[in-house]
Amino acid sequence: MPLISFDHVYKSYDGKEYALHDIHLAFPENVTTAIVGPSGSGKSTLLQLINGLERPSDGLVFVFGNAIDYTQLPALRRRLGYAVQGTGLFPHLTVTENITLLAVLEKWEPQRVWQRAEELMRLTGLPLDFAKRYPYQLSGGQQQRVGLCRAMMLNPKIFLLDEAFGALDPITRSEIHQEFLHLQNVEPRTIVMVTHDLKEALKLAQQIVILNKGRIEQIGSGEQLLQNPATEFVSNFFKSQLGA
Ligand code: ADP
Repeated sequence: MPLISFDHVYKSYDGKEYALHDIHLAFPENVTTAIVGPSGSGKSTLLQLINGLERPSDGLVFVFGNAIDYTQLPALRRRLGYAVQGTGLFPHLTVTENITLLAVLEKWEPQRVWQRAEELMRLTGLPLDFAKRYPYQLSGGQQQRVGLCRAMMLNPKIFLLDEAFGALDPITRSEIHQEFLHLQNVEPRTIVMVTHDLKEALKLAQQIVILNKGRIEQIGSGEQLLQNPATEFVSNFFKSQLGA
């Protein structure tokens, strides 16, 4: 059963033009789906419909098998991991305090909190002696890893990433991609990632959704899309991004 699905979803911000148009889509369990498309195509809107930050103008969004209950958003968000571009780390908290914040709020036992934090730091390649440092004492890539650890702390079954790796230099980005794939191997989850970078999507995602002006142009694996682009838009998008 898909953990997330969209049932003919429309979204308009101004009551006139649609930012998303008839999105009918399932996100299979434990699969990484990338939402790809040019700026303004509706990628972030689609992601924010999953965590309830935005509501559909029409249609329904199902998460964990139920239509989202907008009176219960905090409970839903506790079950979702969310990472955005930049890291959103708290500058006055140490690495460990940032990573463990949610678990402490959930009143986990201290030993369980520390074990989970240590496990995540290992999985994302963060040296344990960084635990007491503050974000400004880390490189951009290290901060991004801390952000990933924090989002994974409660072991959410669903993980949403909005251009999370966008600001990194190519080498760091490539390293984090490897750690992302490793983490997905060890702790598989249903991931929805927004990216404008088709190469990133091809590397990390098993399902790719191509958006154009709020409409789905094509859904498929990277290979399917590369071999059989459904529309001229997809074909041109691939050419522009991959230089093929
Ligand atoms: P992307 O993530 O692909 O860049 P967005 O989902 O951010 O696209 O935006 C899709 C469309 O919706 C754009 O035309 C954008 O201007 C519009 N939009 C996004 N957020 C808002 C908002 N909060 N209020 C009004 N319009 C918005």
